[in-house]
Amino acid sequence: MAKDMSISLSEVSLVYPNGLPAINRVSCEIGNGERVAIIGPSGAGKTTLLRMLATALRPSAGALTVLEVSPWHVGRNALRRLRSRIGMVHQSPPIPPRQRAVTAVLAGRLGRWPWWKGLLSLIYPVDIQGAEQMLARMEVADKLFERCDRLSGGQLQRVGVARVLYQQPDLILTDEPVSAVDPALSNRVIGELNREAVERGVTLVASLHAVDLALHWFPRIIGIKSGEVVFDLPPVRVTDDMLRELYASELTYAPTQDNRPLALNPTGIRRKPLCS
Ligand code: ADP
Ligand code: MG
Repeated sequence: MAKDMSISLSEVSLVYPNGLPAINRVSCEIGNGERVAIIGPSGAGKTTLLRMLATALRPSAGALTVLEVSPWHVGRNALRRLRSRIGMVHQSPPIPPRQRAVTAVLAGRLGRWPWWKGLLSLIYPVDIQGAEQMLARMEVADKLFERCDRLSGGQLQRVGVARVLYQQPDLILTDEPVSAVDPALSNRVIGELNREAVERGVTLVASLHAVDLALHWFPRIIGIKSGEVVFDLPPVRVTDDMLRELYASELTYAPTQDNRPLALNPTGIRRKPLCS
């Protein structure tokens, strides 16, 4: 493995118990500070790939290193240390339902705080201001003391992003973090994630269903389908044909008024300038 690699996958496969490979012999390297969008149709393997990078799933075959550690070949303490350096935003953040947003955000640093501080933060929020700042970046500061089970899906996703911003990890992984957020706000959230990665020089890997956001914000686009990488390119080299091919199974033809098929773009917008 080359040095300064944040992520290295060599012939990595993951087979679920049903026997189908969700990830099939993927090789790829992502350098420190790179920002990568993973796109592909539903069922392509995006979540599986990100969960492997988060060390939540163990590959069935191949070699994987994350932040220069082989997660499945080190001891428990080293694995725990590695995990505290990785921040994962889940599509539906697994936050205890009655937890307040402030506590959910502060939990981002649980892995790095001494045990007594973590315990204290569950009883009394130890850094309300810090949590509020991150929620403000996600435009949900008004939900600081709201219970997470009273938030909408999109608000909960933004609390999940705020938590990872607060965590300040060395590797940020996000799995369709704005799938329940409206387009204007999605642009803001993805922009903040990118700003965070650039300012702190950390690696960002995000799966996105919105192709326009991926092409607008990320210098590197990895298209995956059926568990395999079909392209790995800078956005300017991703052609409409490649996107059409990538999403072929997912799109439905709808006739337009003049009876031609609609432009095949899962998001309906492509390279349209986005305000940032
Ligand atoms: P994506 O996130 O791109 O929609 P996933 O990684 O969720 O794709 O899924 C990839 C493939 O693995 C799909 O065929 C899916 O049905 C299958 N899969 C996902 N999770 C499981 C699981 N827990 N058990 C069995 N198969 C799964
Ligand atoms: Mg998914």
